[in-house]
This record gives sequence, structure tokens and C-alpha cells, in this order.
Amino acid sequence: MKKKDELHCSFCGRGASEVELIMPGAEGCICNECAEQANNIAREYLKKASKVEDIDILEVPKPKEIKEYLDQYVIGQDDAKRYLSVAVYNHYKRLSQKVTDDVEIEKSNIIMVGPTGTGKTLIAKTIAKMLKVPFAIVDATVLTEAGYVGEDIESLLTRLLQACDYNVKQAERGIVFIDEIDKIARKGDNPSITRDVSGEGVQQGLLKLLEGSIVNVPPQGGRKHPEQKMIPVDTKNVLFICGGAFEGIERQIALRLNTHVVGYGAANKHSRVERERLLHFVAPQDLKAFGLIPEIVGRLPILTNLEPLDRDALRRILTEPKNAIVKQYVKLMEMDGVALSFADEALDCIVDKAIEYKLGARGLRSIVETIMVDVMYNMPSTKKKKFEVTKDYCLEQLEKANFEAMHQIN
Ligand code: ADP
Repeated sequence: MKKKDELHCSFCGRGASEVELIMPGAEGCICNECAEQANNIAREYLKKASKVEDIDILEVPKPKEIKEYLDQYVIGQDDAKRYLSVAVYNHYKRLSQKVTDDVEIEKSNIIMVGPTGTGKTLIAKTIAKMLKVPFAIVDATVLTEAGYVGEDIESLLTRLLQACDYNVKQAERGIVFIDEIDKIARKGDNPSITRDVSGEGVQQGLLKLLEGSIVNVPPQGGRKHPEQKMIPVDTKNVLFICGGAFEGIERQIALRLNTHVVGYGAANKHSRVERERLLHFVAPQDLKAFGLIPEIVGRLPILTNLEPLDRDALRRILTEPKNAIVKQYVKLMEMDGVALSFADEALDCIVDKAIEYKLGARGLRSIVETIMVDVMYNMPSTKKKKFEVTKDYCLEQLEKANFEAMHQIN
């Protein structure tokens, strides 16, 4: 029922009493529902009409600036950071290149090899924060050949499309980080007898993407359905960065170098040093020996490695990065008006525990979390304004939480 003296929406005609909100304008009014609808229509229109901005190479960050930015968040890994900075800069260069030139700059996809938890994903995520192009992180482990349970290879690009709100033109110049690429390596030497679910077939599919071709991407990811409308995406200008632990690749490197990994697998110090050193020499043929098909290796011309994190690196990770774990807890307590501090010995103790239980950088957070839970529970209800985490307090809390039993290594 229209009430005479109330405002009415000039679009749907409903009165103020029939809608949640009515907004008067110069000539008429609009209700919240019509406003929302208008907003959706406008966004759809703008998305379709949107063009990609030209990249001016003078305006994009230089490799040194990209590396300096990475340095604020990622400790060590200088080689990988430098390679990535150059690759991203070159990606911009390629995008800003005028097609009239006869020298076409080809893209150089990258592969990063390094133990798990040493910062591969962190580097990728950090770079993404400063990029002017869409960026997506995807996991290779979910991919399988058509006909098996899992996701189609093309679904790797779904994330990229989502990162730019399905603006295909933008996605076509984006960067995709494929994590755990080693998991699609061919297992064993005879793939024809046991067609492995995530083996050569997946690699062939991936090759198509890396080479640059027009692929049909399922808009919601997962498996393609015949009735689903696909989005064609040209991957010619999409930069791929791959990362993987390639566990055991040292053996291939050693074989190639004709040396022996002393006591491989044993936990003695000597063998560890040896393994770390070997990873430095990783070469494309080692990736092939590990089970990546030669065509894939050929499409990943930049190969870099990440160092295992030593005690010093772990200690720095605790306190130095811009969003270091310790800084985060200090901030959390600051919000309760509590000045939190960590004694140097306490920090050393946290690092010792991460090493003792082989938890690496990932474990630092769970250790600090375990230590801090009581403080975070109690402090907001007390009048105390200061708290120092000491080594004794760390050990006490870890013991109380049964940390040792939980992380006992067999
Ligand atoms: P992966 O190499 O397996 O991709 P991640 O990048 O996911 O490892 O690292 C796991 C976590 O460990 C990160 O979120 C970060 O908190 C910490 N970390 C690992 N390496 C570093 C590093 N070099 N500098 C700072 N933090 C790191």
C-alpha cells in the first residue's frame, strides 16, 4: 500500500515503508535494493568494457627495488630473490613491448628448488603484494589426468581469473605460482605400464600452458563439465613460477657429479653439509632424472635453489621480517595495553626447539603460540602492564603443554 506523504523509489516505485532504506536525490529517490542492482549492472559493464592499462617500464619497480622489498619479509635466499626480481621485471618489459619490434622477448618461466618450509611460497606471496599484474598461487598436487579424481590442469588458471575478477585480458598477463611441482614428476622409469594418475599426462597438459596456447578454463575450477561455459585464456604472456622440494634430488646431482653422498639419509652432520652443498649444483638434467619430462624442463629455463635455513636464519626469522612472529605478538599484547618483550635467551631457546624437533621455520609459530597462550589468556584480565618472556618461562610452558611428547620424532 502506497502511503501518500512518504518518499518513493523512482525506479521500482516502492515506498519508504516497503524497503529498508530510501535515498533522496536531486530529482527523485532510490531504494537500497535498486541501488544495489544498479551497482551490479555498472560493475558488469565496466568489467566488460575494461581495457588493460599499458605498462610503462619507467614506472615499474626495478629488480633492485623488488629485491629490497622482498628483503623486508624474506630472510636469506638471496639467489632466489634476485632471480625472481629479474624475472618479474622482465615480465613487465615483455608486457610493455610494442609488437612492431621484430625481436620478440620470450618469457622465461622459473623453477625454484629447495627444501619445504624455506620460503618458496613466502617469496611468491610477497612479490604478489607489490605487483601490478594479477597473481595466483596454485598447488600441483590436486591435478590429475582427465578421467581420474582430481582437477583438470586448466583449473590452474581459474585462480588467476578470480584474482582479477574474471577480466580475461588482465589474467592473460598475470603470474601463476605453481607449488609442489615435484609431485607431478613421473614416478619410476616405466610410465607406460602403470599409467600413474599424476604423472606424464599431467605434465603434458601443463606443458601446453607453459608453452603458451589458448586453453579453456572452467570458471569455477575443478573438473570441466560438458554443459559448463568455458573461458578461453591465452597463456602466451602468463609467467609461470614453479616451486618444489624435490626431495632426494641430491642423489641425482651426486650421480651426475660422480660423487657419493656420504651417509645419505643419516642424520649426521657431515651428510647434511654435503646435501646442502649439492643442491647448489642443481641443473636441468637433474630435474629430468627426477621425473620431469624434458619438454617441461625446457620451458622452465630459469632454475634457482633455496638454501636450508640454519640456526642463524631461524633466529632472524623470529624477529627481523616486517611482520615477524615476535612483532605480531608484541602488537597483540599492545592492544591490551601490555608491553611484551622477549629475552634474547628465550628467542634462542625457541630456535633450539625448532631445530631439536626438526620443525623448521613453520614450527617457530607453533612454538611461540604454545608459549604465549597462557599470557594471552591471563593478561587482558589483570592490571599488569608489562611481561617479559624468559627462557625459563618458555621451557615451563612447553613442558606444560606437553610439546615434547607431541613433537617427538621416532
Ligand atoms: P615453502 O618453501 O615450503 O613454500 P613457505 O614459504 O610456505 O615454505 O614457508 C613457511 C613459513 O615459514 C612462512 O610462512 C614463513 O613464516 C616462514 N619462512 C620460511 N622461510 C622463510 C624465510 N626465508 N624468511 C622468513 N620467513 C620464512
